[in-house]
Amino acid sequence: MTMAAATVAEAIRGAALRLSATSDTARLDAEVLMAHALGVTRSQMLLGRMRDPEPQGFAVLVDRRALHEPVAYIRGVQEFFGLPFRVGPEVLIPRGDSEVLVETALTERPDARRVLDCGVGSGALLLAVLANLAQAEGIGIDRSAAALATARANAAALAVGGRARLLAADWHQPDWSAALGRFDLVLANPPYVEDDAALDASVRSYEPHGALFSGADGLDDYRVLVPQLPGLLAPGGLALVEIGHRQAQAVIAIGGAHGLHAHVRRDLGGRDRVVVFS
Ligand code: GLN
Repeated sequence: MTMAAATVAEAIRGAALRLSATSDTARLDAEVLMAHALGVTRSQMLLGRMRDPEPQGFAVLVDRRALHEPVAYIRGVQEFFGLPFRVGPEVLIPRGDSEVLVETALTERPDARRVLDCGVGSGALLLAVLANLAQAEGIGIDRSAAALATARANAAALAVGGRARLLAADWHQPDWSAALGRFDLVLANPPYVEDDAALDASVRSYEPHGALFSGADGLDDYRVLVPQLPGLLAPGGLALVEIGHRQAQAVIAIGGAHGLHAHVRRDLGGRDRVVVFS
């Protein structure tokens, strides 16, 4: 007698059980990975494919997740602000908490014409703003060539490539911004995690450390970048800087010492998340 092949539903159940040892979202992870293996959306799968045989390749995806690899890297895509962004281990995975930065940009400067993203990564912040402000043009800088390649692919896929320039630059280098001009909006989600912070294995083992860690107190990049903001802002311009939820006071103080006014925006969890400098 041969064993009946597992159905999609049975394979999801087994995978969810296995992943529950390492993931807080085991059932969801299993469903998302199964939909990816089937090449359909999760709702298409739930509505019509649960009795199909388990597809080839699902087990390998579950093995990767069981080793803590983020689902976004396994799928190669993360939705952010309602848009699909290609992601890989060369870029930080866009977080829902960062959407408040985009919302703030769109509500406080809907008329913005020139936008700069410092540390553009996948392009999530800059490209979400450009996708929603048809008159705006943007420059994204990053010190990682691999991240810039991903940002360029995302700009093209989101049909904003004609309005986005993606350039290699590093705010730790002298004169990095000399040729860029001034901006109505400066966006930044710099590294801000303390070097010895306790992070989930899925973050510490897979996401790029250059995008996460910023010295013993997590403030090293703000100390270098924030003092340069006055020289980047056009009259009436705003700089929107993402922060760790306990960093607002320290980051506002750095800006205050350089003549910047500040207010704070909170994320969906009610935590301080963005300092708005003007
Ligand atoms: N929000 C990220 C985290 O939770 C950190 C992002 C950053 O350092 N810019 O790990």
